[in-house]
Amino acid sequence: MEIMRTVLLWASENQWMRRNVPRLGFVRKALKRFMPGEDVAETIEAAKSLRDRDITTIFTHLGENIADLSAAGEAAKHYLVLLDWIAAEKLPTEISLKLTQIGFDLSEEQTYRNFSAIAARAASMGNTVWIDMEGSAYTQRTIDFYRRAKRAHANVGLCLQAYLYRTEQDIADLLPLSPAIRLVKGAYREPKEIAFEKKSQVDQNYLKLSKQLLRASREGKVRTVLGTHDLNIIAELEEFAAREGIGRQRLEFHLLYGIKTAEQRRLAKAGYRVGVLISYGEFWYPWYMRRLAERPANLMFVLKNVFPG
Ligand SMILES: Cc1cc2nc3c(=O)[nH]c(=O)nc-3n(C[C@H](O)[C@H](O)[C@H](O)COP(=O)(O)OP(=O)(O)OC[C@H]3O[C@@H](n4cnc5c(N)ncnc54)[C@H](O)[C@@H]3O)c2cc1C
Repeated sequence: MEIMRTVLLWASENQWMRRNVPRLGFVRKALKRFMPGEDVAETIEAAKSLRDRDITTIFTHLGENIADLSAAGEAAKHYLVLLDWIAAEKLPTEISLKLTQIGFDLSEEQTYRNFSAIAARAASMGNTVWIDMEGSAYTQRTIDFYRRAKRAHANVGLCLQAYLYRTEQDIADLLPLSPAIRLVKGAYREPKEIAFEKKSQVDQNYLKLSKQLLRASREGKVRTVLGTHDLNIIAELEEFAAREGIGRQRLEFHLLYGIKTAEQRRLAKAGYRVGVLISYGEFWYPWYMRRLAERPANLMFVLKNVFPG
C-alpha cells in the first residue's frame, strides 16, 4: 500500500501524466464520485442539497502552480465572481484556495494583492477564506503569508498538517493571532527528516494537536476545524470534547465531498458543525491523484469504470 501511495503521489507531479490521464473517459467517470462537476453551477446545486441537511460547504476552484501572472490574476478574479455567486444564492459557503494558484511561485507581492482583494470581498459578506497548505517547500512561506494576511483581514484561515514535526510549534506561535486553523493529516510526499513516516504516528500527532486546539477554542483563542474522515479520531474527539465540556457547536468537522457521506450526515444530525469541501474546475488531475493516494483501494473504483456492469 505504501508503494501504491508513492507511485500515485509521483504520478500527481508527472507532467506527461498530467497532460494525458485527464483525457481518459473512464477516469473522468470515476471522478464523479469526488466532484459534482467541473462547473460552478453543479457545485452550487450540490451545496444546496447539503444545506438542506444542515451541512455547510467550502468551495475550491482546482488549480495549482500557475506559470504566469496573468493566469494567477484570472484565478483570483474567478474567486471574486464566485463570492458574488455565493452571496446571490445565500449559501453558507466559504472558499479555500492554494497560494500557488494565485501567483505564489512568481511574485509574493502580486499574490498578496490577489489574496487581499478576495479576502476583502469575502469580509464584506461576512465570509471566510481558507488558505490550503501545499508541499513542504511552501510551509514557512505560507505561514508567513498567513501572518501578514491575518493582520490585515480577520476573516482568513490556514490549513496545517499533522504529519509535519514542526506543526505543534507553528500552532503555538500562531495562537496569539486568534487564528482559524484547519488541521489535516497532510496529503503530500514528505521526507522522514521533517514528517512522521508511519500512519500510526501521524494519527497520534493529529489527536494530540487537535486536543490542544480544542482546548484553545474553548477559551475563544482559535477557530478549530478538524479536517478528517478518520472515524476513530472523530469518535475519540467527540468523547474528549464531551469530557472537557466543549459544546457540540464548538466542534467543527470538515470533510471532502463524496467521502464518508454517512458520517457527514450523522455528525450534522448530532448537532456538530459540519462542512463539506467541494472541488470543481478543469484542472483536477493532481488533486485527484492525491485523493487516490489517500486510499489506493479507490483505484479499483476507477478501474471498474473501464469495464462497467
Ligand atoms: C476539508 C479538508 C481540507 C484539506 N485540505 C488539505 C490541505 O490544504 N493540504 C493538505 O496537505 N491536505 C489537505 N487535506 C487532505 C488531508 O491531508 C488528508 O490527506 C486526507 O484528509 C485523508 O486523511 P484522513 O484524515 O481522512 O485520514 P485517513 O487515515 O487517510 O483516512 C481515514 C479513512 O477515511 C477514508 N478516506 C480518506 N481519504 C479517502 C479518499 N481519498 N477516498 C476514499 N476514502 C477516503 C478511508 O476510509 C480511510 O480509512 C484536506 C482534507 C480535508 C478533509
